[in-house]
Amino acid sequence: MNIAQKIELRLGDITKVDVDAIVNAANSSLMGGGGVDGAIHRAGGPDILEGCRAIVARQGGCKTGEAVITTAGKLPARFVIHTVGPVWQGGTKNEQTLLANCYRNALLLAIKNECRSVAFPNISTGVYRFPLAYAAEIAVNTVWEVLSHTNQLDKVILVCFDAASYYLVEQALVALKKEKNNN
Ligand code: ADP
Repeated sequence: MNIAQKIELRLGDITKVDVDAIVNAANSSLMGGGGVDGAIHRAGGPDILEGCRAIVARQGGCKTGEAVITTAGKLPARFVIHTVGPVWQGGTKNEQTLLANCYRNALLLAIKNECRSVAFPNISTGVYRFPLAYAAEIAVNTVWEVLSHTNQLDKVILVCFDAASYYLVEQALVALKKEKNNN
């Protein structure tokens, strides 16, 4: 598996990315919120919330680390995969495993729905305060782990909203390539 071919970094707004599925950093109520969640619901329109309501009616929200899927409404993507990141509590509450679960479960759900391309925001690094460099390391490692066990995904795009995040995710990606001896 060639990391550089399959994992791409991008600076910008995830609602504009043309992939099969974009991932939303949702909260467990699935009823929308601020940050990237608000941006996705605003840009995608009411069909996304309607999809979330149906899921809530069926299973009562989404637990931290788990993922659910809805339509992407008016967005260029076909699906929104909603995952709930952990709130950073100093690393004492299993946050690292829960964040890895978000990336893994979102990708497994994408594969199940025959997606070939998926875009992620930097889950938990906004109001949930997960340290950026640490979150970046978990993101790239977990994405690599899933990609190296499937041929179904052509591309995973890590979308960073600001230059500081972009730099840290880029560093994590460089470290991963070095560790795997893979350019
Ligand atoms: P969380 O509650 O998981 O911390 P936030 O939405 O507060 O979620 O932040 C997650 C990340 O998404 C942050 O790095 C934030 O800068 C970023 N972000 C916010 N809006 C967008 C957007 N439109 N596209 C991509 N990333 C975004």
